[in-house]
Amino acid sequence: METIQSYLNQHDPEVAAVLDAESIRQKSTLSLIPSENYTSMAVRLALASSFTNKYAEGYPYFWENGERSMQKNGRYYRGQANTNDIERLAIERALKLFTPNPQAYHANVQPLSGSPANLAVLHAFLKPGDTFLGLSLDYGGHLTHGHRVNITGASYRAVSYRLNADYELDYDEIRELARLHSPKLIICGATAYPLQIDFQRLGEIAREAGALLVADIAHICGLCVTGHHPHPFPHADLVTTTTHKMLRGPRAGLILCKKELGPAIDQAVFPGLQGGPHMNTVAAMAIAFREAMSEDYKMYAGQIVRNAKTLAEVLQAEGFSLMGGRTENHLLLLDIVHSDNGLAAKDGHWLSIRWERAGLIANKNAVPGDKKPWYPSGMRLGTPAVTTLGMKEVEMRQVGDWIVRATRGADNDAELERIRVEIASMMERFAPRQFV
Ligand SMILES: *Cc1c(COP(=O)(O)O)cnc(C)c1O
Repeated sequence: METIQSYLNQHDPEVAAVLDAESIRQKSTLSLIPSENYTSMAVRLALASSFTNKYAEGYPYFWENGERSMQKNGRYYRGQANTNDIERLAIERALKLFTPNPQAYHANVQPLSGSPANLAVLHAFLKPGDTFLGLSLDYGGHLTHGHRVNITGASYRAVSYRLNADYELDYDEIRELARLHSPKLIICGATAYPLQIDFQRLGEIAREAGALLVADIAHICGLCVTGHHPHPFPHADLVTTTTHKMLRGPRAGLILCKKELGPAIDQAVFPGLQGGPHMNTVAAMAIAFREAMSEDYKMYAGQIVRNAKTLAEVLQAEGFSLMGGRTENHLLLLDIVHSDNGLAAKDGHWLSIRWERAGLIANKNAVPGDKKPWYPSGMRLGTPAVTTLGMKEVEMRQVGDWIVRATRGADNDAELERIRVEIASMMERFAPRQFV
């Protein structure tokens, strides 16, 4: 990394200075954003590889009678010997990592991120105006699950389901809505849901309604593939995920589906939605998939959950109110406005700025009933990134203590500065150079 940095310094000092500053920021503050992580050096190097120079529109195979003819070159331009090899490898590894039976499933590794992956799925099976069900953004759903400001809500008829009063998925309501609206597709999964998802039950509801079930496991994919959360297959017809959150790969998206849906998915990604795939990213994905098959990764996933539970316990003991009352995965959603512990904050926007002063990087989040998304009442915390650094239960108790102090002392600049110094000092022990 030293040589790369000095090369950049000579080549373009202006940009190098910003890259350096970001590296220092990541090394000295605590990332509690549940969708962030640190990639391995191997993933970083693949991203910087010569594949970034190559166009590879098309696929490294043709569909013939429902099967991929892997020996045939389906690219539009020449010079594809190596792009074909790397994409075939990425697909093979994705199927091995994510599906119960690689022969019966298909993987498309070309989506540029999670949002394009979801849009491609809708584009593959719905016409503009067709109905689908998704979790409301106000209750932890993703923008691409049909929010009105998103193209998925603008182009399709999106019907939102919500959570019950205990902040749990309300499967009876989903079934009712499915009966009432006959959607073509039901999408499940969330960005801010601390509890487990019952994919089996959702699969039954979808089949009863004649709808496809899409499980968007962007946040929890690492728990699903290591047995720390129920797996969406075989209940879901399709699975979408990002590869840069819990999976620790490059910033990208991935679609997995039953094999018979493969041709429609491929067509929807390219030429339906995208042009050339980012082959450097595909190479980095292949590396991340292999890393996620290791024993180390399995232990990592277990520790993520134990760390989240520990943090939840510490904060609950201090009177913080947790949406759902607990966590069963990698994230916690705190209601920091209505917490009954004398630590009530003005709003999540304000508190997240104050926490950042202390070196605690987290994100504000809407909770049910919030009217202003820019000034929500919640804060979302997650443990995937700190767990990658090697932090365990002991450190989570320390982090919980900092959160309490930074909330109680949110108006007190001197206290925030003291916490910032303490965090920077802990990060010196935990942020190995290769990560940032
Ligand atoms: C993060 C996320 C996405 C979108 O990913 P981007 O890569 O940011 O486009 C989609 N769905 C869910 C549930 C997510 O959490």
